[in-house]
Amino acid sequence: MTRDPRYDILFKPLKIGPVTTKNRFFQVPHCTGMGFIRPRMLAEMRGMKAEGGWGVVCTEYNSIHPSSEDLKHVSSSLWDDSDIRASRLMTDKVHAHGALAGAELWYGGSRSANMMTREVALDLDSLPNAVGHPFQTRAMDKSDIRDLRRWHRKAALRAKEAEFDIVYVYATHGYLLANFLDPVRNTRGDEYGGSMENRTRLIRELIEETKDAVGDRCAVAVRFAADEQAGEDGKPITGERRDMFEMMAHMPDLWDINIANYDVEMGVSRFTKEGALEPYMDFVKSVTDKPVVTVGRFTSPDTMVSQIKRGVTDLIGAARPSIADPFLPAKIEAGDVNAIRECIGCNICYSGDSIGVPIRCTQNPTMGEEWRKGWHPEKMNPKGGDGRVLVVGGGPAGLEAARALGKRGYDVILAEASRQVGGRVLREASLPGMSEYIRVKNYREQQLSEMPNVEIFLESFLSAQDVHAVGADHVVIATGANWRAERFNGNEYTPVVTNSSGVDVFTPDDIMDGKLPNGPTMIYDEDGYYLGGVIAEKIRHLGHDVTYATPADAVSKWTENTSESWRVRSHLMTLGIKIVLSKSLQSFDGQTAMLACEFSGQTSEVNVENIVMVTQRRTNDTLYQALLEGADRDPGKLPFTLARIGDCDAPAIIAAAIYSGHRYARELDVPVDVDEPLRHDRTDVGETKDGEYLQNA
Ligand code: ADP
Ligand code: SF4
Repeated sequence: MTRDPRYDILFKPLKIGPVTTKNRFFQVPHCTGMGFIRPRMLAEMRGMKAEGGWGVVCTEYNSIHPSSEDLKHVSSSLWDDSDIRASRLMTDKVHAHGALAGAELWYGGSRSANMMTREVALDLDSLPNAVGHPFQTRAMDKSDIRDLRRWHRKAALRAKEAEFDIVYVYATHGYLLANFLDPVRNTRGDEYGGSMENRTRLIRELIEETKDAVGDRCAVAVRFAADEQAGEDGKPITGERRDMFEMMAHMPDLWDINIANYDVEMGVSRFTKEGALEPYMDFVKSVTDKPVVTVGRFTSPDTMVSQIKRGVTDLIGAARPSIADPFLPAKIEAGDVNAIRECIGCNICYSGDSIGVPIRCTQNPTMGEEWRKGWHPEKMNPKGGDGRVLVVGGGPAGLEAARALGKRGYDVILAEASRQVGGRVLREASLPGMSEYIRVKNYREQQLSEMPNVEIFLESFLSAQDVHAVGADHVVIATGANWRAERFNGNEYTPVVTNSSGVDVFTPDDIMDGKLPNGPTMIYDEDGYYLGGVIAEKIRHLGHDVTYATPADAVSKWTENTSESWRVRSHLMTLGIKIVLSKSLQSFDGQTAMLACEFSGQTSEVNVENIVMVTQRRTNDTLYQALLEGADRDPGKLPFTLARIGDCDAPAIIAAAIYSGHRYARELDVPVDVDEPLRHDRTDVGETKDGEYLQNA
């Protein structure tokens, strides 16, 4: 296959200051949970994107000084010479595939509490920490501003020494430079506050100084928000931003444009669709002749072409689409667009940074495993034998196992009880806002359709006897899990209705099966991720009074990690759903739900006629257990190897099911050292001399 000429424009080189990108695919800076803590994992992952055809591959936010540090959220750093060596790991990998490497210089200001370094953070005033730590910043005086400019310059020089090709001045996302630009927040009385000219002064100085320091060889980019905040009606307000942009339009070599509202810029697909930034930045290209890059969770090459042709942007910026498919450009180049693994907009990738662990991705199980497990997103290890594999269950785990086994060259039979594959994603994608989750199924179904060695049997509910009758050499059970009607009270699963009452409660499975409540309904959420809120919305759309109750202190508490909790809560409030926090459900009699406060134990009542329990799941491992039972619980007595994966093994998020299926396929015939299953990336203490560790070894 060859490239469709309609996409030629995406492969046109573009000059960015003193450097030239080979194409228009630009991996903008994105966090990874790796940064300065796990440089080898990071380098291999970024290198993989370059191998996959991205013309530019950037770092995450890259701290210029120890007084800007964000742990537990892991940044990169350019503080000293050892950081140059660590960065070289990445730039070398990126350059090996002909891509440019970009470094985003970052100073956090009031968003950094510096819990690791214990340095005092600097900002334009003595501001409270923006993420809730009981620390304030020091108001920067003239000498602090001089220090900051020197740190920025030194970091730029280190970036150049580390062989970066593009160096960013980072002026958005509520960090220090954004605060200087802010007309409300910047009340300084000196030449750095007040008028627009004064508020832009520091950024203008940094652009000039960075160009002066590294501009002979490196392009200087500015990351800038094109709008102020979304207006009440959701419409963009550009106002002063446009004037500000006009003032600086000619200064850098590249503009990386985003918007002030992170919930839209990084929006989950439940609320934000592809290309959402366009209305906010439609003026940008008309004001500057410098190249422009922007994001929009672009996965469709037609949309990308349209963005460039209509003059919205010059370069297709991507964080999430490059995570879900590091080979997206290579697939367009090869005319294989059907094989693109499209991002589903779930933001599980972002949860790594939120929690302080390496990045993972729902669609791409190899993300973050490139170095530590040696996994490649497109290449599988060839099969190690001629056996046939039976996969039972066509949900995310079974589909991914079948796909990856098929790619290894195994003969695979996939048996699925229902009429369609997809399992939980098929069911969940029919709920409000969740349609893009179907991409988990679509990508794998498409891949499987091209594999003659994989056969799919639908409407094939297999018993233990059926499994034996297939005569496979390997059997993997991916039969998923079902939602429970009970709750977990901290010690055990317990019902909230008495057996004798004749009262029923609903589960998410009932709702997704179309068995719906009638009348006032409580959604009781102990799961804490998205499903409780989504089901509340679904029932509300039916016209019923809905109360969302949870023992957690926030709506859909875990979505704090996927940067959507604010949006979820405001959305439910807008829909008129009543919210009850920090209360656990004690009992329900068909008319009254009895709740107990998590702190005081005090009870209260809510009058509802139905309850949907979004609590925990029970593994559907009946088949697995029956197979073991038939062999006296000794797997060695079975005529095939037996394993269970995904929710059938341990219920979890979709990303875990995909990972589990992928891992099974990779390791089927590969001896794995279960005691030391992965390479451990961590600070290398190096060699010792005379009993002392050598510095920076
Ligand atoms: P996971 O997330 O682990 O992939 P899912 O619940 O999404 O789990 O998918 C499990 C799939 O297994 C469902 O599509 C279900 O119809 C199928 N399934 C369950 N039991 C059997 C069985 N005995 N034979 C064939 N398919 C089954
Ligand atoms: Fe997209 Fe989800 Fe993967 Fe992030 S984790 S890249 S949002 S599919």
